[in-house]
Amino acid sequence: MLRCNTRCVARSLEDVGRRRRTPTVRVPGIVQVAYSRMINVLAIPALVDNYIWMLIREQSRDCVVVDPGEAEPVLAMLAEQGLQLTAILLTHHHGDHVGGVEALLQHRSVPVYGPARERIAHCSHGLNGGDRIDLEAAGLQFDVLDVPGHTAGHIAYSGHGLLFAGDCLFAGGCGRLFEGTPSQMLESLDTLAALPPDTLVYCGHEYTEANLRFASGVDPHNRALKDRLRQVIQQRGQEQCTLPSRLATELATNPFLRADNPGVRQATEALSGQPLPSRLDVFTAIRRLKDAA
Ligand SMILES: [Zn+2]
Repeated sequence: MLRCNTRCVARSLEDVGRRRRTPTVRVPGIVQVAYSRMINVLAIPALVDNYIWMLIREQSRDCVVVDPGEAEPVLAMLAEQGLQLTAILLTHHHGDHVGGVEALLQHRSVPVYGPARERIAHCSHGLNGGDRIDLEAAGLQFDVLDVPGHTAGHIAYSGHGLLFAGDCLFAGGCGRLFEGTPSQMLESLDTLAALPPDTLVYCGHEYTEANLRFASGVDPHNRALKDRLRQVIQQRGQEQCTLPSRLATELATNPFLRADNPGVRQATEALSGQPLPSRLDVFTAIRRLKDAA
């Protein structure tokens, strides 16, 4: 399995609409950084193909981590960068997203935010869709979105033009339906798709290449998808992180957000060997095909 071990810096000096990219910087052992005016977001590779996201307030030592599946790489980053952990955000209860919480709390006692509808050890602040959290020390505010489907109580965090989507929306794909129905997942993806198109999407795994290879089969005439796949193959060949993606890119190339596209419907009907009259039918068939891939 490929692991990211490079660091890329994209620096945004102005507001979301006026981003300016700097050349890629490589630092062994660390991956992708997206850098907005206020927040530096580090991708910490963990386990097999997870990312733990670390958000650092610019010009401060305060940071927040999202979905720490293990503690060790987070503790190493805190020590290496001289940072102070101020909060932990969780999107859902799976072990590869919460496995590091206990050890991080032994290092430093901080608030742990997570879905109210899931049982997660050490979660101190249960959240529901519509809640808003204010992480004062890190200078961050996030809106909480209910996005069930992958798990029954899965939530996402949206704010500052950033979306922490956990295992709901992936680059080029979506999470498996372990606890929810296709209808729930489609509704959850609709919620995320309604965010501003320039939203940066940070998801829980490096699945982009496999997702886009699959997507090419159900959206075979999509030029933007072909271009994206070519770019991602190149990135992964250099062991680069492919995240974050931009929501507009997902809308143009992610088949799970394109179930109403006639070309996607036609290809999915051909692959599944049956008519798919509704958008939900198409979505359900794409998910089934991906599960079997
Ligand atoms: Zn999961």
